[in-house]
Amino acid sequence: AVSEKQGKVGSRIMVFVRLRPMNMKEKEAGSRCCVRVVNRRDVYLTEFANENDYLRLNRLRGRHFTFDAAFPDSASQQEVYSTSTSELVEAVLQGRNGSVFCYGATGAGKTYTMLGTVENPGVMVLAIKDLFSKIRQRSIDGNHVVHLSYLEVYNETVRDLLSPGRPLVLREDKQGIVAAGLTQYRAYSTDEVMALLQQGNQNRTTEPTRANETSSRSHAILQVVVEYRVSDASMNIINRVGKLSLIDLAGSERALATDQRTLRSLEGANINRSLLALSSCINALVEGKKHIPYRNSKLTQLLKDSLGGTCNTVMIANISPSNLSFGETQNTVHWADRAK
Ligand code: ADP
Ligand code: MG
Repeated sequence: AVSEKQGKVGSRIMVFVRLRPMNMKEKEAGSRCCVRVVNRRDVYLTEFANENDYLRLNRLRGRHFTFDAAFPDSASQQEVYSTSTSELVEAVLQGRNGSVFCYGATGAGKTYTMLGTVENPGVMVLAIKDLFSKIRQRSIDGNHVVHLSYLEVYNETVRDLLSPGRPLVLREDKQGIVAAGLTQYRAYSTDEVMALLQQGNQNRTTEPTRANETSSRSHAILQVVVEYRVSDASMNIINRVGKLSLIDLAGSERALATDQRTLRSLEGANINRSLLALSSCINALVEGKKHIPYRNSKLTQLLKDSLGGTCNTVMIANISPSNLSFGETQNTVHWADRAK
């Protein structure tokens, strides 16, 4: 996939689409499937369908999209992890930063993809598991230190999901932008991590009208920092740090409705500023622009050192198969298509 993108001016962003299975509610509502994933690459959308006409119709209507990979509803968590994120874990061990985002409407499968369940752990857990196993394989003297932090951006307020309390202030220091006082949890093994992340996820802000449901407007960011010592050519010991950020984004439904408006006009409109700012940064990166507007939101400030440049960026667009969500699916797929 690297060679395919070498002709492009902008940063390399790997873009994936994941289709989730139709759920009970959608089946009971008699919904039809309006998405086809073919050859682990191609996505076909059709709103109204005679099933047999899918491929032909979509070619005619230009609703055929190709991504770095597309996952059908049968794809396992492991397949999604291996295809999208395992390379980034390898890069972190070389001291490079990277980020993986799940994007999509509420209910499309972002949290399932990122966090998963105890039986089917998602990208966050599989990445940490893989990281520890890679460290074990290579480490001669056990000199790798792994720290985790898990935070939330909600309404442009940053909170620590591992130690909920007052909002955190972002400060700029030598290392870049840091959330002052954020818990840095030293992790020694995978076993403790799932419980920790599940607990952290419980701490995400819920909207008053949607009790017991994690908010569709909250972004959850897991940052995994690996520090280790290596000796250079002249046998000096140097410290290396790599950081992987895994982000379960807020639901895209509100942002998409107002895609065309400027950030300024959205003040007070209860629109997700961080999500729009992320889209602007991604578009600027893809277009190879010099100025990347990181300063426009808390989310993009926090991810400034993990987006663009030599960082690896992965976008997983989550979609529902049901025609009841066709509009959102179409918006998500178009958004993903622009991020390529
Ligand atoms: P989001 O975080 O985008 O709002 P969720 O991840 O919470 O959506 O998914 C909504 C529901 O669908 C959850 O009950 C989740 O377990 C289920 N789900 C999502 N993706 C899958 C999948 N690939 N396989 C099985 N169940 C899924
Ligand atoms: Mg969610």
